Amino acid sequence: MGKYIFGKIRSGKPRRYGKGSRACIRCGQYGPVIQKYGLMLCRQCFREVAPQLGFKKYN
Ligand SMILES: [Zn+2]
Repeated sequence: MGKYIFGKIRSGKPRRYGKGSRACIRCGQYGPVIQKYGLMLCRQCFREVAPQLGFKKYN
């Protein structure tokens, strides 16, 4: 997962606006951030936090 994200950033153009421009409020990592529930969390953090919030396993 980490390697995949890293390679994606290196090969692609840095996006300042729009999708992928947000940083996770939990770990500060830029990438695909889930804003669905106003959480602003990356997938990894969402998966860790979701059970505590009552969400089912995010896949
Ligand atoms: Zn995160």
